[in-house]
Amino acid sequence: MSQTLEFKTESKRLLDLMINSIYTNKEIFLRELISNASDAIDKYHYLSLVEDKLPKKNDYEINISLDKEKRTITIKDNGIGMTYDELCDSLGTIAKSGSLEFMDKIKELNEKKSEVTTEDIDIIGQFGVGFYSAFMVANKVEVRTRSLYSDKAYLFTSSGEDTYTIDEIEKDDSGTIITLYLREKNDEYDFDNFLNEWTIKELVKKYSDYVRYPIKMLVSKSEKVEGKDEYETKEVLETLNAMTPLWKKRKTEVTDEEYNKFFKEKYYEYKDPMFHLLINVEGKINYTALIYVPHEAPYNLYSEKYEKGLQLYSKSVFIMDKCKELVPDYLRFIKGLVDSSDLSLNISRELLQKSKELQDISSNVEKKILSKLENIKENDFDKYTEFFKNFGINLKFGVYDDFGLRKDQLKDLLIYNSINEEKMISFKDYVKSMKEGQKDIYYASAKNKDQVLSMPQMDLVKSKGYDVLILPDNVDEFVMSIISEYDGHKLKSINQGDLDLLDKKEEKELEKIKNENVELLESIKNALKGKVDDVVISKRLKTSAVCLVSGDGLSFEMEKVLNEIPSSNETIKANRILELNPNHEVFKAINKLYKEDPLEINGYANLLYNQALLMEGFKIDNPIEFSNLMCDLMVKASK
Ligand code: ADP
Repeated sequence: MSQTLEFKTESKRLLDLMINSIYTNKEIFLRELISNASDAIDKYHYLSLVEDKLPKKNDYEINISLDKEKRTITIKDNGIGMTYDELCDSLGTIAKSGSLEFMDKIKELNEKKSEVTTEDIDIIGQFGVGFYSAFMVANKVEVRTRSLYSDKAYLFTSSGEDTYTIDEIEKDDSGTIITLYLREKNDEYDFDNFLNEWTIKELVKKYSDYVRYPIKMLVSKSEKVEGKDEYETKEVLETLNAMTPLWKKRKTEVTDEEYNKFFKEKYYEYKDPMFHLLINVEGKINYTALIYVPHEAPYNLYSEKYEKGLQLYSKSVFIMDKCKELVPDYLRFIKGLVDSSDLSLNISRELLQKSKELQDISSNVEKKILSKLENIKENDFDKYTEFFKNFGINLKFGVYDDFGLRKDQLKDLLIYNSINEEKMISFKDYVKSMKEGQKDIYYASAKNKDQVLSMPQMDLVKSKGYDVLILPDNVDEFVMSIISEYDGHKLKSINQGDLDLLDKKEEKELEKIKNENVELLESIKNALKGKVDDVVISKRLKTSAVCLVSGDGLSFEMEKVLNEIPSSNETIKANRILELNPNHEVFKAINKLYKEDPLEINGYANLLYNQALLMEGFKIDNPIEFSNLMCDLMVKASK
């Protein structure tokens, strides 16, 4: 009895997109169907290992056949198959998040039609779009399947319209047979190409060479007839893929190109990785890991949809796709796989994920990655700089995460631009070129060198020739406060706390000036009540008149960052300390005016404060009042 069912809404949209897609990379349908077949065999194999009752098999195989007359391609596997419910659930509904993202991307491309570049098109190739991609090349698809757990077999038929039908059929063994009825050739695309043995062979090599089960196809071969000068055509069953998992081959047997090719095919990347790392560990736990750092951050690395993780295999049997336990958050950008012979298959996936073995592998892999990075930093600094531009922020979050648990492992991997150096430098480099008598390491949050150099707080640091690290990211100041010192040298913000730059004599002189001006400073502080926490004689200004600094602890930069977090409704404020340069003409002028008329001080205090705010990149409290005060002052000056 035939039953007609309706696709779920999302599926309809995806089908529609597949059918009407401008997408040229239609050939990936084969990769998708082979990958589903291989997954289904993986599942069968996995279950046969953990469930004693299941018949063991050693003839796993994916078979492709072409029928030029009927214009069909058939892909057959002897994997796990699907029950009636699974058929409806899996093929009637979109299962995979990749498909949804794919839809978004296609939609985006369709909207900007004229500006679509080949790179955009290539990006699409990286999505695992699944079963529905069959409809890019076929106008009718039949799926014959029988689940390993069922006596009944079913035929699913769909033309990619709103509905599909399911019929009961006879099928001897478990597995799935998918038949695609190719679309008619048109002006834009020659679908008949896929009926060509040679095309299929190429596509399997290109996309599915490392599938671990043989992908076989009957291929016609012309052979010389023995003893005669004639040729005859024979049909030979040929295995099209290489099969041996790449990570199981010895390093010396595999070229970089092959590792890169594997990366692109397996993880749907379109650029070579920045580098790869093959880890072979024999010891308490035996495993092989093949790790890749992509060339650039995946476009959705920082979105919630992004799933970190490595693929997990046990004795080359695929277990799961994104095992997140294998990757600490801050390395979420890595791709690759772990294959271990010491993972128990008999425990549930949930328990497996909590297992001690996985934790050990994970921390071991993490260590290897960090030491590889250290190695690149030492031996190919330009490459490391490129890596850091793409992923440095992740390492910074690594320092910050878990209350600084990893700060010692990571601090030497951080590099920054600085005001004295052309190249980026590490803390170690900084310390190496510290000036005589310099005690601390200085930093400033800024977009670039010029911005740092123009900060009033830089006066004294600059005059001493000290280098200053330039911090570009929001997280940086938090990172500095977590690391707090390097090699016995404190990390100090040039606009926070006491910079400790003066000698005893200079300190004494300032102390004297302070004592002579107690009243003045107090009056200014009073005039700025509620706005600043203190008004002091500056130990860091040389040419500028004023600046605003924060005390130790929370910095202005942190204040800005914390207040941008949408969820917190409390405003956070760093201490505000107004510093005055006692050697500046303005200080002398105020002093004089104060002696003549102490009440005048309110206006000047406000002007100084507002200037300092502006220099710090804050908004001033009352711009109109500020402007009026300026005008008054100009008028007064002209008299
Ligand atoms: P994905 O493979 O990414 O989950 P697909 O749309 O390709 O998405 O397939 C959806 C689901 O259909 C699969 O997860 C699987 O459960 C089932 N499926 C597809 N092809 C096969 C197959 N050859 N054998 C058994 N199950 C299959």
